Amino acid sequence: MPLELPSIEFHHVAVIGAGASGLVAARELRREGHTAVVFERGDQIGGVWVYTPEVESDTLGVDPHRTFVHCSLYESLRTNLPRQVMGFRDYPFVVREDDDHERSRDTRRFPGHRDVLMYLQDFAREFGIDELVRLETEVVYVGMVESGKWKVKSRKRCGSAIMEEYFDAVVVCVGHYWEPRLAEISGIDLWPGKQMHSHNYRIPEPFRDKVVILIGNSVSANDISREIAGTAKEVHLACRTVNEHQTMGKQAVYNNMWCHPMIKSVHEDGTVLFQDGSVVLADFIMQCTGYRKFHVQHKINRELNERIKDIIYGPFTFTRYKYHFPFLDTNGIVTVQDNRVGPLYKHVFPPELAPWLSFVGLAWKVAPFPMFELQSKWIAGALHNRIALPSQKKMMADVKAFYSSLEASGKPYRYTHNISEYQFEYIDWLVAQCGAPAHEEWRKQMYAATKKSKITRPNSYRDEWEDQHLVWQANQDFIKFTV
Ligand code: FAD
Repeated sequence: MPLELPSIEFHHVAVIGAGASGLVAARELRREGHTAVVFERGDQIGGVWVYTPEVESDTLGVDPHRTFVHCSLYESLRTNLPRQVMGFRDYPFVVREDDDHERSRDTRRFPGHRDVLMYLQDFAREFGIDELVRLETEVVYVGMVESGKWKVKSRKRCGSAIMEEYFDAVVVCVGHYWEPRLAEISGIDLWPGKQMHSHNYRIPEPFRDKVVILIGNSVSANDISREIAGTAKEVHLACRTVNEHQTMGKQAVYNNMWCHPMIKSVHEDGTVLFQDGSVVLADFIMQCTGYRKFHVQHKINRELNERIKDIIYGPFTFTRYKYHFPFLDTNGIVTVQDNRVGPLYKHVFPPELAPWLSFVGLAWKVAPFPMFELQSKWIAGALHNRIALPSQKKMMADVKAFYSSLEASGKPYRYTHNISEYQFEYIDWLVAQCGAPAHEEWRKQMYAATKKSKITRPNSYRDEWEDQHLVWQANQDFIKFTV
């Protein structure tokens, strides 16, 4: 019997977002023979790596009518991953010869944010992706129509006319570092100081001689607190937990920084009471509490909304879950509950709509660019019929088993897409699906070495390291892509 080959298919695909994930998705779609249109509401490609000194009109990010700024970078930000593990797998983030003499490159292993943007611009130019991108074009509606196609409505930022087009498939690449997530603080409505989210932090100058409280113990909280310590009178970190290299109380390297447990309450007289009973009279509270995922358009379920409002995470409650319903209408098939976008098979495909709707980049606590690249290969291959997806039933069963395992281990919904514990297992799985070259061992070792280094020397990990042998291995591997 002759072997029956699956029919090869080419499709017209809408990619929403021209950050790192949208750019690589467009490249993979095109490589697989599809046509793609990339919608980008900003005026240039690069997403989160497009720096602006502008901040939002509501620096806490609560007011839905605030002037909106996508950028979450601060002026001095350097990458928290070494360039070797950060770049796309087949387009290494190496220091390239610059043909534009006005742009100088940052040659450091952990470069500043401008170099990441230049790298993405080089990538888009090299693969001809910039010609697929429609800048200043916001997608305002995506929904499936009876023919099985997707209706995409978009509008130019300045013009108000809405354009309606039809696509075979939609890939959502909108990022998830722009809707601040906030900790609810008892008494905050009467507290007279200034509040903001780290999304709107740019430079330390506004904090000169002030007493500043930062909530969180993430990369942003650590970087920003150290930067502010140079100008502020006092910096107080409110952390839920500390690692074995951190101590509560006064911090050894600084004479004006303290670490406390979480805030218990704040008061009308400007004081902040921590859970250990210590009290500080403060000028600013900055929430370095991370971001919400994007929100899906669906009917408001009051009961669910109330239930989510009541979920308690440790010492404080996140209650700022106002569903935004920006553009995606799946008729309730895809929902967002406490940052779980689901149901999604392997964080990418809603089983009922696969492969026609997909998401790149929802998983976090990873080296994102290589993951975006592999997820995009998988999507492009599945649309092409080169890669077979399991049946809808099997995908759904897998999702259910995954959710049950999260529940059994006591993980709240909001950790659904945190894949830190199995990042490389997931990457290897994607590699196998795509038939792509194996993920090099040095990447895994370098990621682990950096993670350790960040904990043991948070002040200097970007400039001192012990994994030079891995850098050498990486550079050897990169030769095939760079000569
Ligand atoms: P984004 O870069 O956010 O791009 C999404 C794009 O979608 C945006 O351009 C946006 O304008 C567009 N968009 C959204 N909605 C619409 C719409 N309706 N219509 C049209 N366009 C739309 N990663 C690392 O690898 N290393 C690091 O050191 C690192 N540091 C970071 C530091 C900070 C402060 C932050 C916030 C993130 C950092 N990251 C880092 C993670 C970073 O987010 C990812 O590396 C990656 O750039 C995200 O790409 P993305 O394409 O998924 O999202």
